[in-house]
Amino acid sequence: MDTRIIKPTEENLRICAEAVRGGGIVAFPTETVYGLGASAFDEKAVKKIYRAKGRPSDNPLIVHISSLDQVKELAASVPFKAHVFMKKFMPGAVTMVLKKKPCVPDTVTGGLDTVAIRMPSHPVANKFIAECGVPIAAPSANRSSRPSPTTAKHVLHDLRGRIEYILDGGQCDIGLESTVVDFTTARPRILRSGGVGAEEIEKAIGKLDAVISGGKALCPGMKYKHYSPRAEVLFSAYYANMSDTINDYYDRYAASGRNPVILCLSGRKELYGGRNVIDVGESVDDYAKNLFLSLRLADAKKYDLIIAEGVTSDGLGAGIINRLVKASAEHII
Ligand code: AMP
Ligand code: MG
Repeated sequence: MDTRIIKPTEENLRICAEAVRGGGIVAFPTETVYGLGASAFDEKAVKKIYRAKGRPSDNPLIVHISSLDQVKELAASVPFKAHVFMKKFMPGAVTMVLKKKPCVPDTVTGGLDTVAIRMPSHPVANKFIAECGVPIAAPSANRSSRPSPTTAKHVLHDLRGRIEYILDGGQCDIGLESTVVDFTTARPRILRSGGVGAEEIEKAIGKLDAVISGGKALCPGMKYKHYSPRAEVLFSAYYANMSDTINDYYDRYAASGRNPVILCLSGRKELYGGRNVIDVGESVDDYAKNLFLSLRLADAKKYDLIIAEGVTSDGLGAGIINRLVKASAEHII
C-alpha cells in the first residue's frame, strides 16, 4: 500500500472521511500528537489500527468526538464533576474516562466497561471527525513502543505501507498526549499526566485522588514499553547541579566508545561545554512540544545514548517526566 501525506483541504478531508466510513484508517493531526483513526463503531476497522501499530489488544483506544453532544452517545452516565471538567477543558488536551454504553465495542475499550473520550481543539482534527460523522477511535499514530509522532513525517516513518493517508497539519502545538482523568471513582484521579497540568484541573474540579502505582494497571497502556527511541535513554531528576552529574555520565560513556547527546533547554547549553546537545527550546512548554521530535532526531543523527534533563513537575513538567521515565525504562540518574 502506498502511504501519502496530504494537505487538509476540504476535498482531502472529504476523501479521508469517506475512507473512514468505508472501514479504513487515517492519520490526522491534533494539538497533542498525531492520531490514527477509525470509526469507533466499526470493530473490523478498529482491529486494523491495532495491526498497523503492532499494539497489544488490551490497550484501549481513546474515542475522539467533534461536539460535546456526542458524549451521551458513548457514556452511560456523566457525573457532575465530569460535566464541569468538560465545560472547562473540552475541546482541549484532556481525556475523560466514563462508564461506557453497550454500543462502544470491546475492541475499542480493551474489554473494560469504561470508555475514554476526548474532543481535540485542533481545527483539522475537529473538521475531520465532524466530516466522518461518527466518533473516531484513535491512539497515537506511531508503531507501538516508539515515541509518539508530532509531525506527518514521523507518522510516515513509522507507518509507511501500513496506512493510505496522513493528513498533514504541521508540528503539533503541545507535543505530549492528553491528560487522562478517570471519573468512575468517588473522587476523580489522573491516570496519565499530559497536555493540561494537574494544578489547573484541581482548580476547576477540586482535589484529585492520588493514583497508587503498582498492581493492576489503571491506564492499561502505561504498563507497556513506551516512547522509546533506538538510542538508550538516561533521565536526570531535576536539581540545582544536575548538569554536573549529566556531564559526568556523558564523559564516562563517551570514554567507553559511546556517542551520547544531551537534551537540554536553550538557556542551559553552556553548562555542557562542547558536548553534543539537542536544544529542546526556551521553556518547559517548548520541551514538551519538542520532546518526541528530539528523541527521533537523536536516532536520525545516530546518537546511541540520550541523557535528558529533568524539569519540575508543575504544568507540563509532570507529563515530560512521565514520558522520559518510561523512555528510559526507569534509568534515572
Ligand atoms: P494513546 O492514545 O496511544 O496515547 O493511548 C491512550 C491511553 O489512554 C492509553 O494509555 C490507554 O491505556 C488509556 N485509556 C484508553 N481507554 C481507557 C479506559 N477506558 N480506561 C483507562 N485508560 C484508558
Ligand atoms: Mg500512544
